[in-house]
Amino acid sequence: MQGLPYLIIALFFGLGGALVARSKGNPALIWFAIAFLVPVAGLIAAIFSRSAADELRRECPTCGKVLPISDTLCTGCGTDLDYPDEMIISRRDELRRSAR
Ligand SMILES: [Zn+2]
Repeated sequence: MQGLPYLIIALFFGLGGALVARSKGNPALIWFAIAFLVPVAGLIAAIFSRSAADELRRECPTCGKVLPISDTLCTGCGTDLDYPDEMIISRRDELRRSAR
């Protein structure tokens, strides 16, 4: 069982990456995998990754689902998406405005 200590350390880094990602609203499972496979750098990347709450959003013209601006394919109906004419403000900005 030579690789076991490494595996345990990698698991902790994976959990750390998942917790950081979840606190930012990013997919925890993906960041768990990244921080587990590339322990130190993966956790650092999770800490410095952009928060999904800061991303501009757009509405799918076919089904109306609200998606991140970076998506080129609708996850709701599979429509190919061009760069939109109209954007929706990020979730964080929306919260800031409604707090006023
Ligand atoms: Zn759609």
